[in-house]
This record gives sequence, structure tokens and C-alpha cells, in this order.
Amino acid sequence: MTEHRITRIRHEIVRRQLVVREVAHVTPHMLRVTLEGSELAGFSSASADDHIKLFVPGADGEIERRDYTPRRYDAAAGTLAIDFAMHDAGPATLWALQAKAGDAVEIAGPRGSTLIPWSFDWYLLVGDETALPSIGRRIEEAPAGARIISIIAVTGPDERQMFATKAEHSAIWVYRPAALADGPGVMIAALADLQFPEGEGLIWVAAEAKVAKAVKQHIEHSRGHLRQWMKASGYWMKGIADAHDQLED
Ligand SMILES: Cc1cc2nc3c(=O)[nH]c(=O)nc-3n(C[C@H](O)[C@H](O)[C@H](O)COP(=O)(O)OP(=O)(O)OC[C@H]3O[C@@H](n4cnc5c(N)ncnc54)[C@H](O)[C@@H]3O)c2cc1C
Repeated sequence: MTEHRITRIRHEIVRRQLVVREVAHVTPHMLRVTLEGSELAGFSSASADDHIKLFVPGADGEIERRDYTPRRYDAAAGTLAIDFAMHDAGPATLWALQAKAGDAVEIAGPRGSTLIPWSFDWYLLVGDETALPSIGRRIEEAPAGARIISIIAVTGPDERQMFATKAEHSAIWVYRPAALADGPGVMIAALADLQFPEGEGLIWVAAEAKVAKAVKQHIEHSRGHLRQWMKASGYWMKGIADAHDQLED
């Protein structure tokens, strides 16, 4: 068995005042907001599943904070892109929908990174729209020779994205309406149909908390996959604002 060293690093939390440079649709329900500003200097995000805190105005005027993935940081251009999955309600989603060039916004972090090495024989990335920025970034950053399978649940074919990568990537897109985003059915059906590759694999899961838990349990029970080689997180919770559930053992 190869030794795979998954390491965690901590960063000093830095708050940054930035400005919106551009807002563009990636797909009909995924909005990319690109930020810039002199305070981006020194920004660092070591892992595709890092998150930053985004500070946005709440309904009562209080500042709310929400977790978002640094989708693409371009140090040379001085820009940071964040992809927002559109859903019915919530101050972060509302902020992104109304964002326009020149708007000010504050971010903090990332405060830490989990570094998953490229030493595994294969990688299985499972997630919903909120996990798509992290999954896309990991696929794009993968080295030549890496073998990646992604299972991503979205509302329909219009929400599929293309990723430029050197890796050997197989994309499995599954569909369900937004109202069923808290149900694991389509992901579990795709997993049940999937023949796992030979060798040692790393599985990463992020979705609504109950969905991520059900997917994790399905993989543990039906495949006997080693727990230390699976990382599952609830990226949101149905009916609860600002929820993050790390399902690690
Ligand atoms: C580590 C991490 C990284 C993340 N990265 C991203 C990212 O890059 N892009 C992204 O879009 N999201 C990402 N998320 C998820 C995002 O933080 C949540 O969806 C967040 O709740 C959105 O904030 P909001 O203000 O829009 O809604 P909130 O005020 O938090 O929630 C309001 C209501 O909307 C519901 N809700 C929240 N999210 C969704 C959803 N996606 N679909 C349906 N209902 C929802 C809640 O259950 C609640 O009832 C990430 C979460 C984590 C933990």
C-alpha cells in the first residue's frame, strides 16, 4: 500500500477589502463574480476545497458571512473568481445577483488548507452545484496522468461545465430539479452504476449535508472504501442558513 499523506496547513486569517471587477454567467444558474484590489496581494489558496468567508449585508442590515470556494486566483492579473450557485434565498446569493463592477466587498481567509496529494491511483469527486467550483478547480489543477471521475448533480444539461485539464477525466452529470437538491437519489444511483477503478482511490464528497452523509454511508457500506481516503462535507443544510458540516470521522 502506498503512503498517501493528507496534510493540513493553517494560515493567519487576513481580511481583505476588494472590488467587483466583472460578473458573468458560467451557466444559467452559476454566476462568476471576479474580484480585484490591491489587498489581494499575498492571497494564497493551497487547496481546491479551501474556503473564504464573504461578508455581505443581511436582511436586517447586519453583516452576514458565508463560505465560498476561491474558484480561480490569478496572481499575475490580480483577480479572484468566485462562482455562486443560484438558489431561492440567502444574502450571499442575493449579493451576487445584484453585484456589479465597482461594488465593494470584504473577504477573509482561507484560514486553512487540506492538501490531498496526487499519489492516489484515482480520484472520485462527488457533489452538487455548491461543490462544483471546488471540483472544477481540482480537475483544472490536476497533473497529467491523474485519473479523475466526477459525479455532479445539477438541474439539467445547461448546467454542465467544461474543464480544461491535463488529467484523464470522466465526467458523469446527473440531473434532478432544484427542489430535490436535498435528496441523494441521483448521486447514489450513479455511484451504484460505477465500476471503481483498480488501485487506491481518494473520494471527495460535498453537497447538502444529508446528501453528503447518505453518499458517504453508501460508499462505506457498499464498497468498503477506507474511511481515511474519503472526505465528505455538508456544504449547506436544507432550511438552515450558513451551515457547514464536516462529516469526517
Ligand atoms: C467549504 C464551503 C465552500 C463552499 N463553496 C461554495 C461555492 O464556491 N459556491 C457556492 O455557490 N456555494 C458554496 N458553498 C455553499 C454556500 O456557502 C451555501 O450555499 C450558503 O448557505 C449560501 O449562502 P446564502 O446567503 O445564499 O444562503 P443562506 O442564508 O446560508 O441560506 C438561506 C436558505 O437557503 C438554503 N440554501 C443554502 N444554499 C442552498 C443551495 N445551494 N441550494 C438550495 N438551498 C440552499 C438554506 O438551507 C437556507 O434555508 C460552500 C460551502 C462550504 C461549507
